[in-house]
Amino acid sequence: MVPGFAVKIIRKPTRAVICRDLTIGAGHPIAVQSMCATHTQDIPATLNQIALLQDHGADVVRVAVDSRKDVDALGVIRTKTNARLVVDLQEGYQLIERVAPFVDGIRYNPGHLHHHEKETPVREKVSRIVASARQHSCALRIGINFGSLDPATKGEGGDRFGSALRSAREHVGYMEELGFSNYVVSLKSSDPNDVIDINRLFSDEFPFVPLHLGVTEAGMLPMGEIKTRVAFENLLAQGIGDTIRVSLTLPFDRKFEEILVGRKIVEDVYAGRFRSVPRFEHSGINIISCPSCSRVENLQFVELAEKVRDLTKYAEKENVTIAVMGCRVNGPGESDDADLGLWCAPKHVNFKRKGELLGTFSYEEILPRFLSELDAIIAEHRAAFGENLEAGKAGTPNDPSTLGG
Ligand code: SF4
Repeated sequence: MVPGFAVKIIRKPTRAVICRDLTIGAGHPIAVQSMCATHTQDIPATLNQIALLQDHGADVVRVAVDSRKDVDALGVIRTKTNARLVVDLQEGYQLIERVAPFVDGIRYNPGHLHHHEKETPVREKVSRIVASARQHSCALRIGINFGSLDPATKGEGGDRFGSALRSAREHVGYMEELGFSNYVVSLKSSDPNDVIDINRLFSDEFPFVPLHLGVTEAGMLPMGEIKTRVAFENLLAQGIGDTIRVSLTLPFDRKFEEILVGRKIVEDVYAGRFRSVPRFEHSGINIISCPSCSRVENLQFVELAEKVRDLTKYAEKENVTIAVMGCRVNGPGESDDADLGLWCAPKHVNFKRKGELLGTFSYEEILPRFLSELDAIIAEHRAAFGENLEAGKAGTPNDPSTLGG
């Protein structure tokens, strides 16, 4: 780490966004947030997780809502916690009128406004979201994610960067036309370099809009923290970023570590302690895994991600990107772009290689099949360089017979 010295960071002159009694942007302290990974309908577990996050300093806690039963649970949760709650709406934007009375903020994903009511223009859907936010004094977040982009903004050759930027421009345009300014924007990718570049570009174009920073699906520790640090150190040091979320794949009872890591990064940046290099020049295995949330399709997801990390150690020097995702929200998008992609369904794991579906496998079958595909990719890499796979694996056991679910 570079020795510490206090640095003067000049924050971008963004507007103030009000989330109940918290002001985000306009130079206010950077708000640190996290999200519950428990099932929202499991009210005691969700309340426990909210309390755990609050006890560790969460300024805002996000909860996923996908159904009316989730809304009912949210209503009860609201009466039992004083946490600032933000609801995460993905495909369920039609629930907006029901959830808005219970929360302080609403995140919607422009990439998930096209699944339902296909004939209704996106602008009308956004107008409906804004009307509820206005009525109940909620903050909004336009939450753009490289793993679930609006197909209408996709350009030639699957250019996710351009698509994300087009989507941000479109939705900022709606907000401004509708005269609604109590919103922030997030532009998240699992690649920290993309996060840096796109947030810089956005901040230059819309300096008045507060930014929520995050490296999505950053994965497990320690790499998840490293990827996040690279992005946050670069952006925060330039005064970009008003609220942050660190997304780590952690067991439920350790989710609060996202808050601790986030606060430490902010503290380090403001003390001039930088650990990262300006760009994320990672080589070797790159595991992208989502932080999980209440939408996770099978609770074995975190265990599966950890097994993938442990079982691929023998190949850590290989340049292979592996995505391990908890559900279909960002699973298909991220696994399409990975060399090997796994995304979880309730009873099986979808397995893709370079975006092509190899099949669906039970939680018991997936790891041996995954490793044989990984070996095949490594063999292709070695063949290209005239090397021998067995020589590379010497002393690193990878015996499929020892692998289980
Ligand atoms: S991909 Fe992971 S974090 Fe995203 S919605 Fe699904 S389970 Fe939650």
